[in-house]
Amino acid sequence: MMRVLSVASECAPLVKTGGLADVAGALPGALAGQGVQMRTLLPGYPAVLGALAGAAPVEAIDDLFGGPARLLAGKAAGLDLLVIDAPHLFGREGNPYLGPDGRDWPDNPERFAALSWVGAQVAARGAGGWRPQILHGHDWQAGFVTEYLRRMQAQDVRTVLTIHNIAFTGPADPGRLHALRLDPARFHSEGFEYWGGISALKAGLMGADRLTTVSPTYAAELMTPEFGMGLDGVMRHRRDALTGILNGIDEAAWNPATDAEIARYRDPAGKAANKAALRAEMGLPDAEGPLCVIVSRMTHQKGLDLVLQALPELLAGGGQLAVLGSGDPDLQAAYQAAARGPQVAVRIGYDEGFSHRLIAGGDAILVPSRFEPCGLTQLYGLRYGTVPLVALTGGLADTVINASPAALARGVATGIQFAPIDADTLRHALARLCALYKDQETWSRLQRNAMAQPVGWDQSAKAYAALYAELTGTE
Ligand code: ADP
Repeated sequence: MMRVLSVASECAPLVKTGGLADVAGALPGALAGQGVQMRTLLPGYPAVLGALAGAAPVEAIDDLFGGPARLLAGKAAGLDLLVIDAPHLFGREGNPYLGPDGRDWPDNPERFAALSWVGAQVAARGAGGWRPQILHGHDWQAGFVTEYLRRMQAQDVRTVLTIHNIAFTGPADPGRLHALRLDPARFHSEGFEYWGGISALKAGLMGADRLTTVSPTYAAELMTPEFGMGLDGVMRHRRDALTGILNGIDEAAWNPATDAEIARYRDPAGKAANKAALRAEMGLPDAEGPLCVIVSRMTHQKGLDLVLQALPELLAGGGQLAVLGSGDPDLQAAYQAAARGPQVAVRIGYDEGFSHRLIAGGDAILVPSRFEPCGLTQLYGLRYGTVPLVALTGGLADTVINASPAALARGVATGIQFAPIDADTLRHALARLCALYKDQETWSRLQRNAMAQPVGWDQSAKAYAALYAELTGTE
């Protein structure tokens, strides 16, 4: 068995703010069938410590960035975990990154430096008699791992860093070099210096043996100024180390035939009961056109402002909109205002169960992101026969087959894509959606194609396993 330590700041179903958690939670199970034993190192947030069964301390740490800590080993939600019990860093309820005022905790650089430090230590010395051959970190929160491995002189461990979203660079003021246990001699452009500051992500991007990101298209986009967020030069420099491996979805949790949240179904006709239930739940009347749904963080990235601008086109086509999301207060308010119209319903909040009912009940799911490393909700849409209407970018480009005349003629289309990503093009796309929906034969073909498209982890687990094997020379 190949031993891999996954280092992640969130992990579904224990603690989740986005797709990174889904991936961290799914990888160990997906890789078990590929001869990989993956353990996951997590910060000991209250939700994680509370879920941990049969936890045993395997290590005591006298001073972990300002206080004592313990490393616990245990299981939760079927995951084999190492958890950092450090109340001074992680003993805070709620969102893993934000305080009650909705702002980043000021000590986030230190908190996740601590995660990286413990990850490096487990990789360098082992924990409870277990030592990984590979450390696989996720995003900036695991960025300093390679710096610390260097300090610990444990560079025999191979490292992989996965970029889930390059927009989060893990910045810190250079005055914190010492507090972050970084080597001042490496504060330069080949190290972790980024536009005059410190970046945890840059450290990992420069230092990891291999880089992955969550779709082939996003991998290519990262090397461009438009998507690279100032790190495109770094990405070009490391292009030989970079691969795009698509995320899969948790096919046990997201299966319309077994989903306990919904009226279960195996073919698109079974969606009707869910649609009726969703309309009842949201207070929407019957309508001629498609019921479109959105499940999303409300941020600029997700392009939800474009939907509001293009909304009249959908309504003119007899369509409706039902939305679940939270985030930017201005966007929330704008959606709440739109929901005063009879054909629009909005729920602000985070609700896993409701997200299932929305996706089961909708005819189409809208994902108009300005950039999207992989995106998961369009994959849920495919699985549930809820036709994805997506922006042509990142993983959205890789996972949906646009209903072009040629693709329709060949009977292979699974959704609709639009580009360039602006309100006008989205308007046209919504008009196309309404037209396709009217043609019931074509529409049900789209739905059946969508439901037949593989969206699980099989392919991607093989790709990760091959990457690990290549890195350790065990091919
Ligand atoms: P990102 O990671 O950028 O937020 P992804 O599409 O990769 O975007 O993953 C988002 C995940 O979070 C999906 O599993 C989605 O269903 C879930 N999600 C987002 N917002 C909500 C919400 N308000 N309620 C329930 N689930 C949500």
